[in-house]
Amino acid sequence: MATTSELDAAYVWHPYSSVHPPLAPYPVVSAEGVRLYLESGEGLIDGMSSWWCAIHGYNHPALNDALHAQVDRMAHVMFGGLTHRPAAKLAEMLVELTPEGLNKVFFADSGSVSVEVALKMAIQYWQARGEPGKTKMLALRGGYHGDTFHAMSVCDPVTGMHHLFSGVLPKQYFLDRPRAKLGEPADPDDLDAAEALLEAHADKIAALIVEPVVQGAGGMYFYSAQYLEQLCALCRRYNVLVIFDEIATGFGRTGRLFGADWAGVVPDIMCVGKALTGGYMTLAATLTTDEVAETLSQGEPGVFMHGPTFMGNPLACSVAIASLSLLTGSPWKEQVLAIESFFKEHLTACETWEEVADVRVLGAIGVIELKEAVDLAAITPLFVERGVWVRPFGKLVYLMPPYIIDREDLGLLVEGTLGALWTWLEQVRQSAVTASPVDGIPDGDSDEPDA
Ligand SMILES: *Cc1c(COP(=O)(O)O)cnc(C)c1O
Repeated sequence: MATTSELDAAYVWHPYSSVHPPLAPYPVVSAEGVRLYLESGEGLIDGMSSWWCAIHGYNHPALNDALHAQVDRMAHVMFGGLTHRPAAKLAEMLVELTPEGLNKVFFADSGSVSVEVALKMAIQYWQARGEPGKTKMLALRGGYHGDTFHAMSVCDPVTGMHHLFSGVLPKQYFLDRPRAKLGEPADPDDLDAAEALLEAHADKIAALIVEPVVQGAGGMYFYSAQYLEQLCALCRRYNVLVIFDEIATGFGRTGRLFGADWAGVVPDIMCVGKALTGGYMTLAATLTTDEVAETLSQGEPGVFMHGPTFMGNPLACSVAIASLSLLTGSPWKEQVLAIESFFKEHLTACETWEEVADVRVLGAIGVIELKEAVDLAAITPLFVERGVWVRPFGKLVYLMPPYIIDREDLGLLVEGTLGALWTWLEQVRQSAVTASPVDGIPDGDSDEPDA
C-alpha cells in the first residue's frame, strides 16, 4: 500500500509550491490541544494556529460536539429559498459581536470569496446610487486580501506578484503603507498623500479596502490606528466606502476583538473568516450596514449577484457558533495578553542578532523580521527537530499560537523557534565565505527562555 507521502508526492499540489517541492510535506495524523502529531509519532507545538484559525487548539470537545450534533440532523442544504437555525443564529451572533451598525450578514465559503463579495457589494452599491463609474478600489501597499483575481488585485503589487498577471488583473489605486506604527500618531504626509489621491480619483473609487491595524501575510506590519481612523474619515468625506478585511485580525488575535476596535471605526463592510470556526471548517462572512444593504436592494437589479453553492453550510455555521461561544465565554483577552507579554520578554532575545532587522509583538502575534529571506527547505527540519511547527515566509519568522497555549508550551515554542533559527543562521554564516565573526551572541541552546 502506498504511504501518504508517496500518494502526496504523486498526486498533490500544495499552497504556493511547485509539484516538486524542495521539501516533502510532513504527514500529520492527529492533533490535540496545541500539538500536531506526525506520522513519525512526534508531537509539534503549533506556532501557526493553522494560519490564524485554530484559536482554541485542536480536537476541542465543545467544537467536536457541535459538529456531531449537527451532522446527525443535516449536513447541508442549499441556501437559496431555504434557511436554517445554524446560519440564522450565527448571523445574529456576528452582528452582536462586530462593531455597532453592521447588521446584515452574507456567508461565503472562504476568506477570498468574502473579499470578492465585499468588492462586488461596494460596486453594486454605487450602481444603485446612480454612480456606475465608481468601480475601482483603493488599498494599502503591503496588504494581503486573498488569492482570487479581484482579491489579488488589491494585494501588495510586489509580494502579490501582480506582474505575473499583468493585463488580466484589474488595476487599482494604492497608497504607501503608513510610516507611523501602531501606538504612534499618524504621519501628516501619509494623510496628505491619501487626500491628494482621493481628490483626484474618488469619482472612480468604490471603496477603500484595508486590514485594520495589522497587515498580515503582506508583511506582518502593525500600523497607526490614528492613521486608519483619519484615512477612513477622508474616505467618508470623498464618498468612498470603507471595507475592513478582518479575516486575520478578527476574533481577538490583536488583543482586541477586532482590528476596528483599535481605531474606533465602524466600516461600511467587514470581512471575517479564518478563526470564525475555530479552524474546523472553511467559512467566512461579509457584514454590512443597513444603509449599504438597503440601497443595494432598492437599485437595479435589486438583488445582490452572488450565491455560493455551499453558502451558510450548517456544519460550518454550527461549529462557528460553538467557537464564538467558547471565545466569548473564555478569558481570551487575558490569554492573548499573556502571550503578548511572554513574547515581549522572550522572543526579543534575538533582537541583538546581527541578521535580525526587527522583532515586534502585538497580542498573540510575534514577528521576527530578518534582513534576508529564510530558506524554508533548510530551516523547516530544524523547527521539527526541536518540536515546533513554524512556517516562515520571506524574511519573516512569526508565531501566532492558539490562545489556549500554556506558559510551559509557550516557553518550548519560543525556545524551539529561536534555537532552530540560530542553528540555521550558524549554517548560513559557516557557508558564507565572507562571514564576519559574530561576538557575544548567546547560543540558541544555552539561551533558553525560561518557561
Ligand atoms: C487569509 C486571508 C484572506 C484569504 O482568506 P482565504 O480563506 O485563504 O481565502 C484574506 N484576507 C486576509 C487579511 C487574510 O489573512
